This record gives sequence, C-alpha cells and structure tokens, in this order.
Amino acid sequence: MRLPHTGTGIISSTAPPLANPTPHARFLCEVAACHAALGLPKDYGLTRQLPLQTPPAFWIEDGIDLHGRPIRLAPETSRAFRALVDAAREAGFVPVVVSSYRSLAHQARLVKQAVDRGQSLEGVLRRIAPPGFSEHHTGRAVDLSVAGEAEPLTEAFEETGFYHWLERQAARFGFSLSYPRNNRAGFIYEPWHWAYRADPTA
Ligand SMILES: [Zn+2]
Repeated sequence: MRLPHTGTGIISSTAPPLANPTPHARFLCEVAACHAALGLPKDYGLTRQLPLQTPPAFWIEDGIDLHGRPIRLAPETSRAFRALVDAAREAGFVPVVVSSYRSLAHQARLVKQAVDRGQSLEGVLRRIAPPGFSEHHTGRAVDLSVAGEAEPLTEAFEETGFYHWLERQAARFGFSLSYPRNNRAGFIYEPWHWAYRADPTA
C-alpha cells in the first residue's frame, strides 16, 4: 500500500520513550496521546490512508482572524497568502480568515466539543480531521470567508463572488482547494478550505 506524503501513519503509544526524541517523534507521541484521549484506534490514520500533517518549524503571525486570534501561517505560506489577500482586496473583496494554524490540542478540542454536543465520532471525523491529520497543523491551510457572508464554513461560500475569484486566481498564489466534492480523504466538501502547495517544505 502506498502511503501519501512523509507520515508513516503508524502511531504507537506503547513505544518506549526515546532519550532525545526528534520533533517528529515527539509529534507522533502527542498524536497518539490525543487519539487515546478521544478513544480513537491508534492506526486510524493508516486505515483511512490519511497523510500525517506535521507542524512547521515556526509560523508567522500576520493579521487577526474572525474570532480575534492571530492568523498564524508557515513563513512561505504567510507571504503567499498576503499577496493573495492584497490581490483580492484590489478586486473588491474583503477576505476573512476563519481559521489558520491549529495545534493538536486545538484540533482535539474541536473534535471533543462536537462529540459532546451529541454527534457520533464517525460523523464528526468526516467534518473535523482527527488530531495529527488536519492540514491546519502544517500552517499551510486557511479557512476563508468574506465580509458580509452570513454563515462561514458552509457550502454557501461557493456562491460568493470571492469564491469564484478564488477558483480563477488562487492557483496564481500557490493555493488550491483541498477537499472538493467526493474527495479521496473522505472529508465533506469544504469550499472554504484552501492550502498553499507551491513549497512542500513550508
Ligand atoms: Zn479547514
């Protein structure tokens, strides 16, 4: 079986601790701990063939998102996104970032909150990636809305002028839609979720 990207997908919470764990090994341990806390099997990512989404060495803070939090993106992504936003503004749109970099703990909290509201874990994980497998961990992904949009993070975003502009222009800045309809990852259609792919090391 061919595994996408660099992640092994094999996560063990029972492996002996390493004397000097690399950042990657530490990340795997943290993913395993998050999965155990959520009651997820440790091979969840492997069985769904999800690529492990590792964090950047550091991120850049530039601007504030819809919730008043700093927008955090990997350095190359941050520069490319700034250029995209400037061009969108010139075209008359006011882009709004709903979410950017997310930590494992943040991702685990989103999953747990949805489950606590009474939704099945399986259903939740089609909308919210399990910790370790969200593109938001990489600092290359943004969830986008536009000023005046009634309800962000709904399919209605695809009817906005800004979405149509993104469809035509985002690739110029290295961004593309990650989860179109019927995507291989098995996630719901997310017209709001765009990721920078021009620099795989970002
Ligand atoms: Zn997203």
